[in-house]
Amino acid sequence: MDSESYMFGPYKIDLKQVFYSTQLSYALVNLRPVVPGHVLICPRREIKRFVDLTADETSDIWLTAQKVGLQLESYHKASSLTFTIQDGPQSGQTVPHVHIHILPRKRGDFEKNDEIYDAIKEKEKELKQKLDLDEERKDRTIEEMAEEAANYRKLFT
Ligand code: AMP
Repeated sequence: MDSESYMFGPYKIDLKQVFYSTQLSYALVNLRPVVPGHVLICPRREIKRFVDLTADETSDIWLTAQKVGLQLESYHKASSLTFTIQDGPQSGQTVPHVHIHILPRKRGDFEKNDEIYDAIKEKEKELKQKLDLDEERKDRTIEEMAEEAANYRKLFT
């Protein structure tokens, strides 16, 4: 695999979105983040289901999530983290490439704590977008994402 090429399921990810990588995993900023600092950690190999990661990939993706979570919680002045995987379409997975969502959490960020799980479900998000015309849930531009990733990159040097 080309070491500088990142696929996320069917999508070719712009290098500007990637802010941290190892030989087996990479971290990218989100097109439609639910909270500030909502990022994704993926295996470099395009694998759909969690069960199909090798032991090395499993270890590496979680070590990467741990490292990224530590930095982003502090960067966003948050006090907790939600780590979540939607593994398979019936669990809400919309991109067929394993990814851990990392979401920095703050007191009162959602009225009911577990509403964050509704928010990361793409379909419900689209519905909310239609109902609420919630501007924040539109796709971000590559410039916005590049700026966020550039700030995070500095945390890992
Ligand atoms: P899931 O619904 O668990 O499969 O999560 C898919 C995630 O990928 C959502 O948080 C989307 O906002 C995000 N996403 C989809 N396409 C892209 C993309 N091209 N770049 C970055 N994030 C993306």
